[in-house]
Amino acid sequence: MSQPLILVAGPCAAETREQMLTIASELLSLQPQLQQAVEQPLQFVFRAGIWKPRTSPHSFQGVGDTGLEWLQAVQRKGLSVATEAGTAIQAQKAVEAGVDIVWIGSRTCANPLQVQEIVSALRDNGGTLKAVAVKNPMHEDVGLWQGNIERMMSLGVPVWAVHRGCNHRSCWRMAYELRRSYPDVPLLIDPSHMSGMAQRVSVLSRKAAELGYDGWMIETHNMPEKAMSDAQQQILPRELCRCIVQPKEPDTLSWLRAEIDEVDEELWQTVLKRMEVSRRIGEYKRQTGMEVVQPTRFDFILRQRLEWAKEKGLSDNTINVMMNALHEESIRQQQ
Ligand code: PEP
Ligand code: MN
Repeated sequence: MSQPLILVAGPCAAETREQMLTIASELLSLQPQLQQAVEQPLQFVFRAGIWKPRTSPHSFQGVGDTGLEWLQAVQRKGLSVATEAGTAIQAQKAVEAGVDIVWIGSRTCANPLQVQEIVSALRDNGGTLKAVAVKNPMHEDVGLWQGNIERMMSLGVPVWAVHRGCNHRSCWRMAYELRRSYPDVPLLIDPSHMSGMAQRVSVLSRKAAELGYDGWMIETHNMPEKAMSDAQQQILPRELCRCIVQPKEPDTLSWLRAEIDEVDEELWQTVLKRMEVSRRIGEYKRQTGMEVVQPTRFDFILRQRLEWAKEKGLSDNTINVMMNALHEESIRQQQ
């Protein structure tokens, strides 16, 4: 029998006992339909953060230890449960409460000493732990992700890699490298944190299936717009049906194309940013009575960019066309 695919779904954060049980029931009722969408076994896991690593001390920090009993209530409905541990104490409390899967979040992953302490806590207390999931760190550093996965491997339980991207960039290359170095570690996508937008979750989930991922971690809430954290990126449980499709055999060209699409998106963002700065320059010129077109400035820009092109072996003609087109649009934006 082939390896099961993995679907980790549930809210960003546990908010109330009732919210947890409502979402768990909805997920359970969708289980047959989701299972049918793939041609291999699908392992279901309910997720909810109870200790939330938040940027601001003023935002919702999670319900804390209280949520452990709510997770147990979800387990009694027949689902495995997962939560994030950001410290050794949290890891210890989670496994003592019988949490099935602990995940290490992207902020924690940036600190190997802290991850090592969590490993020790799991080793000493994690008798019934079924798996550990390791997110990529917030910055694009595949070495750190790999290092944390190796630290977790010493526990002797399955380790899953969760690809959540960095600051809303996918960073496909990082996941490709991870996959190549650990072909046997199940690779899951977290399209919720990767995009930060509910509307992008299904596209990214399907993209991961095209790239041969082994599963998904998707933030799912019964009332996404009222969620106490990450409201803009959570989807309704029934929307999972548009996300879960049978993965394909991975092929290198699809990975490379994913990378090209990502670079073009960045290029597009850069063009927009250039135009935004241009409009501010236009405003300055208007206020100070300067002419919009400043030929000496453009001569300098073109000469310098052509030198950059030469250093990198790029064609003069391409860079000339590109810079002239950008300049022309900048002028248009300033008028
Ligand atoms: C989360 O999964 O809720 C979370 C905090 O994720 P990340 O560590 O990827 O930001
Ligand atoms: Mn979240």
